Amino acid sequence: MVSVVLFQTPYVLQILRRKQLSDNRVNLLNFDRQAMTDFFVELGEKPFRATQMLKWIYQFGVSDFDEMTNLSKAVRENLHTIAKVSVPDVVEQQESDDGTIKWLFSLENGNAIETVFIPENDRGTLCVSSQVGCALECSFCSTAQQGFNRNLSTAEIIGQVWAANQVMKVMPRNERVISNVVMMGMGEPLLNFNNVVSAMDLMMDDNAYGLSKRRVTISTSGVVPALERLKAVSDVALAVSLHAPNDEIRDEIVPINKKYPIKQLLEACKFYIDAEHKRKVTFEYVMLEGINDQVKHAKQLAALIKDIPSKVNLIPFNPFPGSNYKCSSNNAIDRFRQTLMKSGIIATTRKTRGDDIDAACGQLAGKVVDKTKRRLRKPTVSINSLKVESKKVDKNNNKQSHTGRMQ
Ligand code: SAH
Repeated sequence: MVSVVLFQTPYVLQILRRKQLSDNRVNLLNFDRQAMTDFFVELGEKPFRATQMLKWIYQFGVSDFDEMTNLSKAVRENLHTIAKVSVPDVVEQQESDDGTIKWLFSLENGNAIETVFIPENDRGTLCVSSQVGCALECSFCSTAQQGFNRNLSTAEIIGQVWAANQVMKVMPRNERVISNVVMMGMGEPLLNFNNVVSAMDLMMDDNAYGLSKRRVTISTSGVVPALERLKAVSDVALAVSLHAPNDEIRDEIVPINKKYPIKQLLEACKFYIDAEHKRKVTFEYVMLEGINDQVKHAKQLAALIKDIPSKVNLIPFNPFPGSNYKCSSNNAIDRFRQTLMKSGIIATTRKTRGDDIDAACGQLAGKVVDKTKRRLRKPTVSINSLKVESKKVDKNNNKQSHTGRMQ
């Protein structure tokens, strides 16, 4: 039975942070290590205060400066006036039969995003959103149908991890621990480059969540220039939403392919994983009946990626209201996987999780105040208008970045 919890009781509100009225205080969740250090140095404090603050916020889950007892009273009072620790509000929590949990976080102006926790025997994976909606128009994705509003700030991205941790700590089955994070929620993470990189840095920072780089995965539909830039600033695990064995099919279902075709994308993948370092890229491949699921497609796919250290993750298509595709049959998926394996490609089929609460891949919709007016248009994407952030990682990114969206 699916359980839905609406967060209105004082008890739960007490666990989550107090709703902050809009004000000029900086949100410390926007700061990665370097920015936090700069912040304390500017206050005239020693750099190690940054380590203390990261530990309080992320390891102990403390958001109230008064509880940070190793900071002097003067520092705490100063912090109260200029800073805050503020995460988006959880307004709804749904739990699936299979233990998957989905949260709806409300943002300003009626926007909302979704985050999903997927428990497995050997891990607990949090699927995190990077944008309100998505500017890309993958034809089989529910988020894409919602249109796009804006990029999430670093605080709103890492805040999803913070809030999920806090809520799960006090749930009855408190063995639920986040061991892995995948940037596979709403949005295209590489179109929100700076904020996503800062948030992933916090996920991996030993004084914050301390996850290993193998346990933090960025998933992209193929924003090639941003993928090339990512290598210079991060070495998280890479997943690529390939979904097609040739440009003809991919142009149709993942339209960013018209701007960055498969050949360019695969070159960028090779460059990122840097074969010498024994890393692999995961190619995601959604199984759409009659579109990309024939044996000839599997053979074509195998030939395409045979020189790239990689594995293929077949994703059964998850339907959503208004979707025109059908999921391939189990037989077709199995045949596809066997064909890949026979060609020497490691291939697995992703188990669908949380579909009873619309928490499965591609079903996340949140609430998007669509700035692209997508529903009023024919579903085509003007690829040339996609803007990719080109500046260096901005460590002082307290302000939300609005680049990287459809202009
Ligand atoms: N924009 C990024 C992050 C989204 S990740 C990306 O494209 O990689 C979500 C994964 O689920 C992607 O591989 C996406 O293509 C896939 N997906 C989207 N809609 C789906 C659906 N309806 N059924 C199954 N998988 C879907």
